[in-house]
Amino acid sequence: MASPLAKNIVIVGGGTAGWMSAAALAHLLPDECAVTLVESQQIGTVGVGEATIPHIRYFNQLLGISERDFMQTTGATYKLAIEFTGWGDSASRYMHPFSAFGADLGGVGFHHHFLSARANGAKFSLDDFSLSAQLAQGNRFAPPPDEAGLGYGYAYHLDATAYASFLRRYAEARRVERYEGKVDRVKTSADDGRVQALILESEEVIDGDLFIDCSGFRSLLLGQTLGVPFESWRHWLPCDRAVAQASDPLTPLPSYTRSSATASGWQWCIPLQHRTGNGQVYCSESLSDDEACAQLQGALNSVPVSDPNFIRFEAGCRSRSWEKNCIAIGLSSGFLEPLESTSIYLIQMAIVKLLEFFPCTDENLSREAFNRWMSMEYRRVRDFLILHYHLNRRDDSDFWRYCATMDIPISLQEKIELFRESAVVQSYDQGLFAEPSWLAVYLGQGLLPSSWDSRAASVPAAQVSRTLQGLASQLQKMAESAPEHAEVIARGGLKREPPATMDLYGGARD
Ligand code: FAD
Repeated sequence: MASPLAKNIVIVGGGTAGWMSAAALAHLLPDECAVTLVESQQIGTVGVGEATIPHIRYFNQLLGISERDFMQTTGATYKLAIEFTGWGDSASRYMHPFSAFGADLGGVGFHHHFLSARANGAKFSLDDFSLSAQLAQGNRFAPPPDEAGLGYGYAYHLDATAYASFLRRYAEARRVERYEGKVDRVKTSADDGRVQALILESEEVIDGDLFIDCSGFRSLLLGQTLGVPFESWRHWLPCDRAVAQASDPLTPLPSYTRSSATASGWQWCIPLQHRTGNGQVYCSESLSDDEACAQLQGALNSVPVSDPNFIRFEAGCRSRSWEKNCIAIGLSSGFLEPLESTSIYLIQMAIVKLLEFFPCTDENLSREAFNRWMSMEYRRVRDFLILHYHLNRRDDSDFWRYCATMDIPISLQEKIELFRESAVVQSYDQGLFAEPSWLAVYLGQGLLPSSWDSRAASVPAAQVSRTLQGLASQLQKMAESAPEHAEVIARGGLKREPPATMDLYGGARD
């Protein structure tokens, strides 16, 4: 007999997680499933979260949202990469683009030839072999070309509050019922501890059979009510504070996010159409709030247009995202700092998996599979973020020295050692970040392997050099002939949006 379908779904929270969940469920679940959302304007939302990765395009397309409408409503710009400055030594600079680098040559991975050419004195940087990195460096934007091997993914910088409002209109037009009010108490069953109803301050009672906790860092249902423990990763990701402040838009308009390492953390710079999002992420043991704010304001590239907003957080996640009849999505299930713009992606993955495992009133196996999946996703992102900190060679503060020498997860240690020894990037089938991303950070931060694929030597050095030179010049020319990013934005974005794929590199590589 089929399991009973969860017909009465209640979402707590109207931030990005709440409204993304509501919009997707309303669009994709059968009409017999009622979706209710409760939010409290008095509490508000976290108010940050403006940089994304390419998967968001897939989400929007799934919901039938036009890119041009979306861009206009959310003041969005295009994002091709993240630029990291000062993460290796304080003078280092590299791009992490949403693309692969070069193409295999003679059946051997491109980066092995790249390393071999560098050892022979070539002065190339890895960025020379990514069209999207080249476009980003010139503040340009163009849709990915059809030409094999040159494709890339792209994402957006967006106003997260405007995105949530946009999705709210979308969801309310599709039968989502919204309640304004603060949840005061949560009623659970005396028999099995399942959540039965939310009781608002107004004493209104909202009952349901499946509850989605999108209440942000409070984790009202999963953490506070059901007591699912939080697993802290602070010892690996010690930053626990951020201060954010918006400023005027930038000219020229970058088509990438900036991440600049500072003495005890790092700063983000996220260009939107109508303003720039700026923030300083830091470790409270190393920097006071006042010092962090002063550092941020000293680095602004345009006139501030908002007051500083201080946010506290702790890196980590709940040991289970789905407990009994409650699924946490967004900050209520966990948070890893915004270094690689992964939080909205994690929200999206939780929604995708929730839909995959529906109906879900009594599903133990689905619940365990969901929890395994989300745990794997969090751990993949965690290791990749730790990599950035651990590979630093700054030596200018206790903070960076701690990060360089701290014990790291064994899963990451093995990856780093393998690359150091053989230039092989340990791959995995599921979860975020494949070979190109690992290469960008390894090489960008100066982890040079002691050897590489010996088969690279079977292609004559002169041929490798010619091929690399030819590719670098081709990409540079293509990038230089692309329009300025600001020009594309002024036209309202691309006329025709390319189909989106659920991966980081635009389908060019898994
Ligand atoms: P929130 O936005 O906090 O929403 C919580 C909701 O729950 C609110 O509507 C609130 O009113 C409601 N609520 C809480 N308690 C109650 C109650 N008792 N009764 C009724 N309602 C209640 N992500 C990215 O992808 N890219 C980024 O660049 C990025 N940058 C970030 C920078 C920082 C410093 C931080 C901290 C996060 C960043 N994130 C980023 C993460 C991103 O902000 C969040 O993932 C995203 O905003 C989703 O938040 P949320 O909806 O889970 O929580």
